[in-house]
Amino acid sequence: MSYQHQYVDGTRIHFPVGKVVCIGRNYAEHAKELDNPVPTEPLLFIKPGSCVVPLNGGFAIPTDRGSVHYEAEIAVLIGKPLSTRPSREEVLDAISGFAPALDLTLRDKQAELKSKGLPWEIAKCFDGACVLAPFVVNSTFADLGDIGIRLTINGEVRQDGNSSAMLNPIVPMIQHMAGCFSLQAGDVILTGTPVGVGPLNVGDELVLELPGTGSFTGSVR
Ligand code: ZN
Repeated sequence: MSYQHQYVDGTRIHFPVGKVVCIGRNYAEHAKELDNPVPTEPLLFIKPGSCVVPLNGGFAIPTDRGSVHYEAEIAVLIGKPLSTRPSREEVLDAISGFAPALDLTLRDKQAELKSKGLPWEIAKCFDGACVLAPFVVNSTFADLGDIGIRLTINGEVRQDGNSSAMLNPIVPMIQHMAGCFSLQAGDVILTGTPVGVGPLNVGDELVLELPGTGSFTGSVR
């Protein structure tokens, strides 16, 4: 299904679908569960816009490339250009919305690439590797240090985190990212996943939510 950014009320957001800038190991408990060290500086990677699909209506996963792990994450939609160490105010002004998202990962492939010291694109950038629910407007949250993210699969809560546990909080994270590469309207930030990642299977029924803002469902095809 083709993807266009939209708000929860169905309003289409007329930004192009840009790149998806991601941070790895941004929750200490998640770094631990995969036996990864907690990074001393933010571990960034980028998914291309071509991998974004909507949660609504369900989504397909590859079935011939080993395990596909879900990572529920708070997504931030960028609505204005940001570059070279923007101020806190500039970052806040550039945020258009928040949504629950899935950073899908070919975990077996990633482990193989990691062990060889190779880049992760093959494991992180396949078509459908970024699943986005609709966005809520940025004024929804008074405190960006207190945004929940919850994923329920087949009726069982698998991930239940909060931005308060992020090693790099949302605004400093985006300041750092914009210092590494310019951000543009339509880009999306994935802010890392809390503990509880695991494999997805065809037929799984998912509920993704930023608690308090509504929940979104989709099934795995
Ligand atoms: Zn992730």
